[in-house]
Amino acid sequence: MFGNLGQFRYGALTAGSAQEVGENLQNSPLKTQSGTPCLPPQRQRLQRDSILLVLLLSILCGCGGGGEKRVEAPTPTPLGEFESLLARGRIDQARSLLEPFASPEQPNSVRGLARLGLGRCDLIDRRLEEAIRHLDKARRLLPAGADRAKAQLYLGEAYLRNKSVMTALNQLESAFGALRNPELKSRAAYMIVRTLDELGDPVPTLYREAAGQAYFSEYSEIWSQPQPVIVKSTADLTPKPVTPKPKVQNLTPPPALKLLKRNQWGSLPVRMSSVNPMSRPFRITIHHTADQSNLADIGQSDPREYLKILQKYCQNTLGWGDIGYHYLISKDGRVWEGRPMKFQGAHAGNNTLNRGNIGIALIGNFNKVKPSTAQIRSLQNLLGTLCVVYDISPSKIHGHSHLKPSDCPGKHLNPVLRELVRKLKSSAWAKLKAQENSKSR
Ligand SMILES: [Zn+2]
Repeated sequence: MFGNLGQFRYGALTAGSAQEVGENLQNSPLKTQSGTPCLPPQRQRLQRDSILLVLLLSILCGCGGGGEKRVEAPTPTPLGEFESLLARGRIDQARSLLEPFASPEQPNSVRGLARLGLGRCDLIDRRLEEAIRHLDKARRLLPAGADRAKAQLYLGEAYLRNKSVMTALNQLESAFGALRNPELKSRAAYMIVRTLDELGDPVPTLYREAAGQAYFSEYSEIWSQPQPVIVKSTADLTPKPVTPKPKVQNLTPPPALKLLKRNQWGSLPVRMSSVNPMSRPFRITIHHTADQSNLADIGQSDPREYLKILQKYCQNTLGWGDIGYHYLISKDGRVWEGRPMKFQGAHAGNNTLNRGNIGIALIGNFNKVKPSTAQIRSLQNLLGTLCVVYDISPSKIHGHSHLKPSDCPGKHLNPVLRELVRKLKSSAWAKLKAQENSKSR
C-alpha cells in the first residue's frame, strides 16, 4: 500500500537548525532575559515561554523564598533542581514539580518541556506506556530543534524498551540530526548502532563514528547481547566499498529477468530535488497497490497508463520525487521499473524504514483478490534476481506489515510471500551464501 503522505516531510520537520532553549534553561536560565534583539517572532515567543517556565518553576520550588533572601542566595536553576531530583531518585517529587506545567492553559513550549520531564520520570520507573504518551506529546508540542530532539531521544529509548524496534529507530535517527549536546548525540548514536547490529543491518558510518567507544550500561538490558560490538581502530571506521561476491554469482547466474524500463512506459524525469540517494540495498519490502476503484481498473487493464497516472500523483499531489516503489508487477506478470534503484524509495513509511530498502509493489488489492499466477511467478523471479545481484539474504525480505502496522500486502499475498521466501532460503544459491558467510566469520 502507498506509504504515508508525510514520510518525506518528516525528516524536514526534525532536521531544522536548533534553537537550544532547553540547554539555555539548564545551564543559565537568567541569560534568556537579556536575549539579543531582532529575534524572529517564533524565537521571541520561545524565549518568553522559557522565561515563563523558569519563573513559574522558581515560584513552585520556593527557590529564594522572600525578597531579602533572594538577593543573598544564588538562585538555583529550577530545571537543575528537576535534574537533581531525578539523579537522587526522587522521581515522585520531580513529577509533582512538573505536573502543573503540563496543563492545557500553558503555552505549548512550556507544556512540551513539562511533558518531556514527566516522560523521563516514567521512563526511569519503567512505566513505558505512560512514558511513550508523555514523550510523544512533548515531541508534538515542542518546536523543531534540540528540545524536540531530546524528546525523540527518550521516546526512542522508551520504544526500544517496549520492543517497538522500527518505531524506535525512526525516532532516534530523527533525534540524532538535531541534537546539539554531544553526550545526548552519542547516546542516540549508541542506541542506533546497537540496534542495527542486533538486527544484522548495515550501520551508517556517521552513527558508528558518533557512538565511538561509548558504553552506556544503563541501556544494556535492551539488547540480547550484553556487550556492544567495539570498533577498535579508526581504520575500521572508513566505509567499506560494496564488493560483489563473484564466486556465488558465477556459480548461480541470476535468472533471466525481463524488466520494462521507464522509457517503455513513458515516464517523466525524476524530480531530483525530492529524492535521496540509495544506500547499499540490504532488504526488500513487498506491497500491494490497493488503489481506489477507477485507478484500480486502469491498473488491471492498462499498466502503462496506470504508471503515468501514479507518477503524476506522486510528483504533483504528494510532492515526491517519483513513484515510491522501485518495481511494480502487473496482473499479466510484467515487471515495470518504478523509481530508479540509485534513489532511496518512498514506500515503507519513513526514512529509517526506507533506507537500503528495495520496494516492490504488486498491482492490485490482495485483501480482496488473489494475486495472479503470472504475478507470483514474476515476484519469485524478481526476488531471486535481487537477492543474488545485491547479495541480500532471503531473511531480509519483508511484507510491508512486518515493518509497521499495516494490512499491506494483503491477506491473500502474505501466505504466498512466506512460501516464496521459504523456497528462496532453501535454494542452492542461499545455501552457498550461508556457507560463505560462515567461513568469512
Ligand atoms: Zn505497503
